[in-house]
Amino acid sequence: MRLALLSDIHGNLEALGAVVCEGRARGVDAWVCLGDIVGYGANPKACLHAVQELSDEVVLGNHDAAAIGQTDLAYFNPYARRAAEWTAEQLGESERRYLASLPFVLQRDDAFFVHAEPHQPSRWGYVHNRAEAKKALDAIEQRFCFVGHSHCPFVCIERDGGVELLPKGPQPIQPRSRYLANIGSVGQPRDGDAQACFALWDQAAETLELVRCPYDITTTQYKIITAGLPPALAERLALGH
Ligand code: ZN
Repeated sequence: MRLALLSDIHGNLEALGAVVCEGRARGVDAWVCLGDIVGYGANPKACLHAVQELSDEVVLGNHDAAAIGQTDLAYFNPYARRAAEWTAEQLGESERRYLASLPFVLQRDDAFFVHAEPHQPSRWGYVHNRAEAKKALDAIEQRFCFVGHSHCPFVCIERDGGVELLPKGPQPIQPRSRYLANIGSVGQPRDGDAQACFALWDQAAETLELVRCPYDITTTQYKIITAGLPPALAERLALGH
C-alpha cells in the first residue's frame, strides 16, 4: 500500500493537480487529506470537489471551519480574513454540508491524522518543532502521527525520550519506532521552497518521504489577483512563505 498524505491545499488547483499527477506516477493507492482545502486561493469549489473524488479520508482544517462560520475569524490576519469571507461567498449548500461533516481527527490502525495538535484539535495549535512534535506523540497511542497547519514540513522519529529530525529524502521506517510527520502544504508552502509539498508513506517498502513538485504558480497568481483577493496572497506563492 502506498498512501499519499496532503494538506493545506488552500484553493490552489494547479498545485493540487501537480501533486495528484506526481502521486499517480508514483503508484499511490490511497489518499488522506489533513484539511484546509479552502482559504487563500481562487478555486475553493474545484479543490473541494477534487478532494471528494480523491478520498473519503479527510479531516477538518481551520480555514475549512472558517468558511462555514465554525471558527472565530478574530485571530486571522487581515488577508486570511478577507480570503475566508470571499471563500464563504463562493460555497454552495452542498459544499458547506460537506465541510460541516468533516471530523477533527481520523485514527486508522497505527496512524493518527489531524490538521493541528492531536491533544486539542479544535484549538488549532501548531506543531512547529521537536518539542511540539514530542507533545503530539505523547498525546496519542498510535505509532505514526500526521499533521499539517504550519505549512513547514518535517519528519521526526521518537528516540531516547525525545524526538530527532530526519534528513530530507525517503526515510526507512525502523521497526517499532514512532514517527511524526508535518506534511507541509500543497497550495501555500512557507518553508522557502515554492514547490507543492505532500508526503508519501510506502507501507510495502517501509519508507516515509516528503515529496516536492513544481506547478504553474503564474496561473495560480493570476487567478488570485483577478478574483479580487489580496495580491499579497499571490506574491507569497512565488517566494514559498
Ligand atoms: Zn493552512
